[in-house]
Amino acid sequence: MTEVIGHYINGKHVAGTSGRTADVYNPATGEVQAKVALATTAELNAAVDAAAKAQPAWAAQNPQKRARVMMKFVSLLNRDMDKLADKLSSEHGKTFVDAKGDVQRGLEVIEYCIGAPHMLKGEFTDSAGPGIDMYSMRQPLGVVAGITPFNFPAMIPLWKMGPALVAGNAMIMKPSERDPSVPLMLAELLTEAGLPDGVLQVVNGDKESVDAILDNETIQAVGFVGSTPIAHYIYHRAAENGKRAQCFGGAKNHMIIMPDADLDQAADALVGAGYGAAGERCMAISVAVPVGEETADKLVEKLVPRIEALKVGPYTAGDDVDYGPVVTAAAKENILKLVETGVEQGADLVVDGRDFSLQGYEEGFFVGPHLFDKVTTDMDIYKKEIFGPVLSCVRAKTYEEAIGYAMDHEYGNGTAIFTRDGDTARDFANRINIGMVGINVPIPVPLAYHTFGGWKKSGFGDLNQHGPDAFKFYTRTKTVTARWPSGIKEGGEFSIPVME
Ligand code: NAD
Repeated sequence: MTEVIGHYINGKHVAGTSGRTADVYNPATGEVQAKVALATTAELNAAVDAAAKAQPAWAAQNPQKRARVMMKFVSLLNRDMDKLADKLSSEHGKTFVDAKGDVQRGLEVIEYCIGAPHMLKGEFTDSAGPGIDMYSMRQPLGVVAGITPFNFPAMIPLWKMGPALVAGNAMIMKPSERDPSVPLMLAELLTEAGLPDGVLQVVNGDKESVDAILDNETIQAVGFVGSTPIAHYIYHRAAENGKRAQCFGGAKNHMIIMPDADLDQAADALVGAGYGAAGERCMAISVAVPVGEETADKLVEKLVPRIEALKVGPYTAGDDVDYGPVVTAAAKENILKLVETGVEQGADLVVDGRDFSLQGYEEGFFVGPHLFDKVTTDMDIYKKEIFGPVLSCVRAKTYEEAIGYAMDHEYGNGTAIFTRDGDTARDFANRINIGMVGINVPIPVPLAYHTFGGWKKSGFGDLNQHGPDAFKFYTRTKTVTARWPSGIKEGGEFSIPVME
């Protein structure tokens, strides 16, 4: 019998009642390994009501006690790292070592959340006026929601759960229906770490449960990560319903290679950043922009053998694999369709992965590596996010032309420049209209204590994920002006008080 994955409500696993399910695949074999329940609006609303009941007592615990739950959670994540990574790989398809990185990058945000007592400290002004003190407090919002994508099923839920919960909120987590098991395991570990029942509810579902989140009047804030059209939709509908929203979307990350760069280092960086996790990363480099014909010729010459040598296979093959399958047959089909448009629209397909097949895994969702050269900005493979193992090389004559490509693209998640020249690197970092910038670093994902977020159509909302912004997003400020009877000298005041 196929396993049916349910929800995690009030500290327990529960079965869904909708009768609707989605298939969860093993992407390496193409088999359906489980089904996941898709919640109804009524199930979602019931989970929210229970969370709202649990939240006040959690918020009333002092911040040190909430931080201690996070401390315990860190040790449990470390204890269960291999178990989590194994489940993650089996549903997502990424390699085991990459899956451990997925858990680790989330765990680091939980470590940061141990500093919550400091992050939640307010501000105080003694004697702001005669006998008057003024102070600001950061208070939790109440019940908040997280809606997350398939490509980081541990990291992104952890980025949302950690700051939201430690700040004293209750959270409804709606993970991707493609790989729902790891968020449920995280919820179990939080219960073991001492999180009271009902404070984190994991509700699996699709558009119905997302819309129920957006329309639920108790939910105060929505943190979303996924594709740009859905990010845009959620941002608007959440705002229309009076909710705070931060919605992170898709990407097309450019890496500029200057003529003075070490081209072996640049080629190595491009291969890791372009093909790691089969290109299913919002910070993957999908466009290489070499500056000058000579740089471009040499770079492509160095890239081709590296790409042809990539080992593609199932995560069970261990260290012998560079990247695994993509997540679904539909994702594979979409990637291969875009590759066809590249050929039709005149790009040079210098590494052709279209006929890739893996013996014993013919039904798996594997996609061979592709490299396009002489791509132009009017082509679909340049304009669209491919989210697969496909790197496009766009040749630029000058640095200005290269930076212009990155600036003019509608996405603005990440970018990188490879150069030995400090002036060029500094100019690039200052002028570029993109949220995360690498200088000789191909995937510049900030660490937990800085913030993560893209610009342009890669991010809607004004605060980033993790770092200090996360504490701002999941709390609101209340400012108190206090005067005690001995400080009150005047009778009624009829004009606005000013400080003279
Ligand atoms: P997706 O947009 O298909 O799904 C994300 C979430 O939205 C899921 O929980 C899904 O159930 C829900 N959803 C899907 N369709 C919906 C609809 N019509 N109405 C309401 N909700 C809906 O994204 P995905 O395929 O899971 O993830 C890949 C995308 O996420 C890529 O575009 C990638 O660049 C992006 N991403 C961005 C970041 C970032 O920080 N900017 C990080 C990771 C992934």
